[in-house]
Amino acid sequence: MNYTDATTRFLFEHTPIRGEITQLSQSFQEVLGKHNYPVGVQKLIGQFMAATAMLSDTIKFDGILSLQVKGQGQVRTLMAECRNNEAVRAIAQYNDDFDDSGELLGEGQLAITIDPDKGQRYQGIVLINDDELTLEKVLENYFLQSEQIKTRIWLFADQQKASGFMLQSMPHSASESSLSQDDDEDWDRINFLADTLKPEEALELSSETILHRLFHEETVRLYPSHQHRFECTCSEERSTNAILTLGQDEALSLVEEQKLIEIDCQFCHSKYAYNIEQVKAMFSPKANDAIN
Ligand SMILES: [Zn+2]
Repeated sequence: MNYTDATTRFLFEHTPIRGEITQLSQSFQEVLGKHNYPVGVQKLIGQFMAATAMLSDTIKFDGILSLQVKGQGQVRTLMAECRNNEAVRAIAQYNDDFDDSGELLGEGQLAITIDPDKGQRYQGIVLINDDELTLEKVLENYFLQSEQIKTRIWLFADQQKASGFMLQSMPHSASESSLSQDDDEDWDRINFLADTLKPEEALELSSETILHRLFHEETVRLYPSHQHRFECTCSEERSTNAILTLGQDEALSLVEEQKLIEIDCQFCHSKYAYNIEQVKAMFSPKANDAIN
């Protein structure tokens, strides 16, 4: 199980408590390698990436789960995505006069979006009206208020690795809606143990070792890990679609004016460029037949 980039689900036998542990190394470093981010932004990106991978693993689906925050602090936007529980990417925009000692996000809002390949898109918005709130607390509150799931989240990142740890107490069926005394005791005991996890352990030890160190007196069942990799979802097809949505008149006047329509992917720096013949071809009846 010693992958450098993976998420593992686990559960505590005979309790309603389950968890996720995520560790990212290579994929995180690839994201950091695309931009020259200040240290504070790097760590925040790591936390967002770990959270996104971890949350994606709780819902196992084909599609994209993303976390996007817009704030009034020094980091204007930060977005992390996990596709099909595997491919991760992230990007941040921050003020030019960024100062590592200053406030990172400030007040703002966090959007949690689940965009399945098939089926309906879901988006939950959480207002961050207290600039002391950490991403951990924002997500914990979200699960409690929107999903009625007791949740604890721990996120760690340095400039090389990012790690996430999560515990959830799954609700009982409607007939036994309140948690029993035993469940509360299990929850408190397991949280107490999890709270002893140190950042250096979360970042340096394998997931298996961490779970063993924390919970060797519990009966923990591990599920097969999902490996993660950096991968951008930009493509020739998506760029073409972006131009098609401009409409023929606007696309043609743009390409006539600029000679080329250039689309730069902010996530991976891939460049897509189209000259006038290519743009005309996109809108020709023939091209549309091929698409249909
Ligand atoms: Zn890209």
